[in-house]
Amino acid sequence: MINEQLLNPRSIVVAGGSDDITKPGGKVLRNIIDGSFKGELSVINPRSDSVQGISSYPDPASSPAADLAIIAVAAKYCHQLVESLIEKGTRAFIILSAGFGEESSEGAAMEKSIVESIDKVGGCLIGPNCIGVLTPGYHGVFTLPIPVLDPGGVDFVSGSGATAVFIMESAIPNGVKFSSVYSVGNSAQTGVEDVIKYLDESFNPETSSRVKLLYIESISKPEMLLRHATSLVKKGCRIAAVKAGTSEAGSRAASSHTGALASPDVAVEALFRKAGIVRCYSRAELAAVAAVMLHKPLKGKNIAVVTHAGGPAVMMTDALSEGGLNVPPIRGEKADELLSRLFPGSSVSNPIDFLATGTAEQMGFILDSCENDFDDIDAVAVIFGSPGLFPVDDVYRVLDEKMKAGRKPVFPVLPSLITAGREVNEFLSKGRMNFPDEVQFARALSRVASAETTLEDNAEIPVLDTEKIREIIDISEDGYLDPAGVSALLDAAGIPRVDEGVAETVAEIQQLIDRIGFPIVMKVVGPVHKSDVGGVVIGVATHERAVEEFHRLMSIRDASGVLIQPVARGTELFAGVKREGAFGHLVMCGLGGIFIEVMKDVAAGLAPLGNGEVSSMIRSLRGYRLLEGARGKEGVNIEAFADIVVRLSHLVSVAPEIFEMDINPLLGSADDVVAVDARIRVVRR
Ligand code: ADP
Ligand code: MG
Repeated sequence: MINEQLLNPRSIVVAGGSDDITKPGGKVLRNIIDGSFKGELSVINPRSDSVQGISSYPDPASSPAADLAIIAVAAKYCHQLVESLIEKGTRAFIILSAGFGEESSEGAAMEKSIVESIDKVGGCLIGPNCIGVLTPGYHGVFTLPIPVLDPGGVDFVSGSGATAVFIMESAIPNGVKFSSVYSVGNSAQTGVEDVIKYLDESFNPETSSRVKLLYIESISKPEMLLRHATSLVKKGCRIAAVKAGTSEAGSRAASSHTGALASPDVAVEALFRKAGIVRCYSRAELAAVAAVMLHKPLKGKNIAVVTHAGGPAVMMTDALSEGGLNVPPIRGEKADELLSRLFPGSSVSNPIDFLATGTAEQMGFILDSCENDFDDIDAVAVIFGSPGLFPVDDVYRVLDEKMKAGRKPVFPVLPSLITAGREVNEFLSKGRMNFPDEVQFARALSRVASAETTLEDNAEIPVLDTEKIREIIDISEDGYLDPAGVSALLDAAGIPRVDEGVAETVAEIQQLIDRIGFPIVMKVVGPVHKSDVGGVVIGVATHERAVEEFHRLMSIRDASGVLIQPVARGTELFAGVKREGAFGHLVMCGLGGIFIEVMKDVAAGLAPLGNGEVSSMIRSLRGYRLLEGARGKEGVNIEAFADIVVRLSHLVSVAPEIFEMDINPLLGSADDVVAVDARIRVVRR
């Protein structure tokens, strides 16, 4: 549990502090001394009574009491040390040392007993095996770089210490400041999720940072992360995360499409979407997204691109458009007025290009016009570098002043890190940020603009026959449900399906044909993948043919009967569910056929889903335009499709025993969407 002693210690003791600053115990002490810590600092080191000028004591018994202990001694000494420090009243611990659960089972056992000791007194443990913690109050890490620590910066929580260091390396040169950095190491007591929970529960709209960055390798408490990330986003925070370890090589053998596609990565994606977390895939991307989030929020989609060089503006405009943002034309009297104040040959139609000879004064005119005259412009991106002919301090000064004064966000893209390096650094020293690459900036802005939590508080819950669902599930055994069970479950969930029946004898076929009418579809009952074994025949139109196919289908291995359905028409759609450990049920939807098999065009969400979230999932499909109806082809009743996906997500809430289920295909027309094939596998935990 994160506590006040960790965040604002009045006294710190560094156990294992040394004079050798190439060692963690020496370096962390050095960083604390060089940093902003104003409280009492002491060292525990039996070999010396002064370390780096700080009083050192042989053991906790003789050292002064401390709020926070930062421990850098060999793993095997840690537990005893922690116990003694607890006795002296210490309630916050950062254990930098490695050699615990990450190394061996004995290490894991030591880790566990340390946690037990600290839990017993309600204390806080960060680590072990971490780089430490950075706050504006103290620099409790044994690594460099130390970023500018400012309450207005980002809160950064990392599951990997080394990666935290390199993420800071990427972010600092862009001017990103940090409000806090937590490296959780082995997360023995406090994991990334716990820190997010703390940041949520302690959020203060007046003083807390509104930007949170995460680096995660595994999510062990998805429910906690979802709840508190969503809550933070609803309080006006923005969260960006890198989740590494996406490929799950050799993933478990999948018995259906759903199984094959539902890697935990899909679950992560679904969780992030629900919470409104912007997912990033690289350090540089995370740094750019963080810098966007630290600017004034974008209130619309219309961007003015200001430049003195054509190419980067074109690249940026392309990337903004691709990301769903607009670079709308700027016209009218006010535009003409602005144009008259620029050099001949300039253009204001957006991009606003004021040529290589553009001056600081002209930059001021342009930014004023964007701020005051061009009402439908929501934000400005300024590209201004230097070809090395004259210094550009004056331009950057105007940029800084206008950014300070204006309401609309202005994003500086200053590409000349070499030629105008001095000027860029001076700009950054005013607390500004820079986006050195225009395309990376445009992508980051688009990502941030489109992310929002899709979790609906008041989503309408569909009516399902829960009693019937429980009845079916309770009498079922683990394994695939039979066709009667599948039909009954779909009916109870209110998911439309084609009429169907199973024949075990020739006589029964005739009865079904009398009810359904020709043409019919005949399918083998028994094998899981029917087409693969020649078990599906479509469009049987005569009695003789039906009898012939019946005998053939019954001769297929494992055949126990023949399913008869009418021939349905429409676009093939897919909906499925998969239970994904602590994430709960993952619900997927998409177009069927090659869209799912080859293109992997699937949208996933975490159950239960509301209509709004499902609609956004469906809209995110690459094949969405086909659903709307394209090139004279009939579209699909998207509302009906969404309703099915919503119902599916509620079905598994009623029947969590469903391990996986896929409806593949559903056939969708402009009128309706009906299931023609469904597989349901029950696995009790
Ligand atoms: P399986 O997935 O086990 O191979 P399906 O029942 O999905 O078997 O049938 C295979 C394909 O046959 C479907 O993807 C669909 O294209 C078509 N099909 C199945 N049932 C019908 C039906 N009632 N009407 C029209 N086409 C159907
Ligand atoms: Mg199928």
